[in-house]
Amino acid sequence: MATAGTPEHPLRIAIIGAGPAGFYAAAALLKAEGLTIEVDMYDRLPTPFGLVRAGVAPDHQKDKSVTRAYDKSARDPHFRFCGNIEYGRDLDLDHLKRFYHQIIFATGTQSDRALGIPGEDLPGSHSATDFVAWYNGHPDYARLEFDLSCERVAVVGLGNVALDVARILCKSHEELRHTDIADHALLALKNSRIREVHILGRRGPAQAAFTPPEIIELGELDDTDILVRPEEATLDGASVAALGAHPDRNAEKNVDAIQTYAQRLPQGRRRQLHIRFLLTPLEIIGSAGRTEAIRLARNEPFMAEDGSVQVRQTGDEEVLPVGLVFRSVGYRGLGLPGLPFDERRGVIRNEAGRIIDDGGAALNGLYATGWIKRGPSGVIGSNKVDAKETVALMIEDIHAGRHLEPAQPTAAAAAAFVEALEPRSVSYQDWTEIDAEETRRGEAQERPRVKFTRLGDFLEVLAD
Ligand code: NAP
Repeated sequence: MATAGTPEHPLRIAIIGAGPAGFYAAAALLKAEGLTIEVDMYDRLPTPFGLVRAGVAPDHQKDKSVTRAYDKSARDPHFRFCGNIEYGRDLDLDHLKRFYHQIIFATGTQSDRALGIPGEDLPGSHSATDFVAWYNGHPDYARLEFDLSCERVAVVGLGNVALDVARILCKSHEELRHTDIADHALLALKNSRIREVHILGRRGPAQAAFTPPEIIELGELDDTDILVRPEEATLDGASVAALGAHPDRNAEKNVDAIQTYAQRLPQGRRRQLHIRFLLTPLEIIGSAGRTEAIRLARNEPFMAEDGSVQVRQTGDEEVLPVGLVFRSVGYRGLGLPGLPFDERRGVIRNEAGRIIDDGGAALNGLYATGWIKRGPSGVIGSNKVDAKETVALMIEDIHAGRHLEPAQPTAAAAAAFVEALEPRSVSYQDWTEIDAEETRRGEAQERPRVKFTRLGDFLEVLAD
């Protein structure tokens, strides 16, 4: 058997998932010294860049500029993108093992965590991640409908996704119309009758999961008053002690921002954004098939044995009348056919990126990176560090001779397999044509792009 990794016999690697995690892994592999590596990247969507396209908020264009680095990898002659090909539907582990020495799963976390309370499935109670995918024009979510005709909305959770959702709901048409938000969302939000958005956190400001730039940005909305109750902004004893014992610059900045908001008086703006703390949702109340209110338990903080600040219910309750609830309590990974899955954590079972079986033994040639490896945490750049960790182990395994022995380890064999697949796969060259067309459509409206959101539209551009 020829040694893989030479110019004559390149090491053939498949990456499943074309989001940041997949692209950072590709970049690290393509740079690996002393090895000739060819990367084929598969994605179920016809477009690359995963959550940068379908998750990062449309009014955060700067965050999307990371795609320039991904584009550089994609143009490497040893890289090939195969969009519109879904693992588990169009190909499986046996197919991949036929063509590749190593396979990395970078599929992210495609579902969301549930609150587990009565009424969660009422019409009008939505997962925030569905709403995010809808306003970002993800093809699987473009047909969803959100009834924005009510006046008051709750967003449950204190993470950056909750802030994204609240900000998009509060922004005026003027603030949104120059972004790349999906056209259907731009129109629905223009006609929105929402006047009050209530972000509801179960712990206090010092334990919020959001980050300082995002909470500070909320205070700069054109036509929205931001309101925080002074008694909820004041730090409790447990939080003061925890911050004293373990100073946390981000938490301190978050608390500063919240306490500044608590001093603001309403200015009579069109919308009001309330940020509330120490409230746990108990039930979503509705009748005649729609959401009418959310019942909340009031909490008090205490210092847990591990030094973290946790909460317990005081027995007091509050009912907030709302017509919509967005549950924003974190993403959750889904298991993939043929791979061991840690149900509790919602990640592929792995050790620093090496996929392991239930007994802890590494599965030859199989790896994970990004959120499906470590869970949904950190910022986009965190996936770079994560990918480097996985790739270092992959290279260590190559040098130790631990890899798959594919029967057809050539680019031509894999390409022939992909070309024979239905539906049609989308190449990186195809994507550049879609990208150019979306950008061209955006120019006339002074927007970065006008997104295609239906699979048929993507394929039509390519047919043209
Ligand atoms: P997240 O940061 O994990 O926040 C989840 C929030 O939900 C926390 O406040 C958590 O409170 C709360 N929560 C969990 N279970 C709950 C329950 N049963 N009842 C009430 N509240 C509950 O998740 P995320 O907002 O989905 O964000 C995911 C990742 O993407 C994060 O790393 C985030 O920073 C990143 N992201 C970044 C940006 C950006 O940089 N602009 C934008 C979007 C997302 P506890 O702390 O009490 O558990």
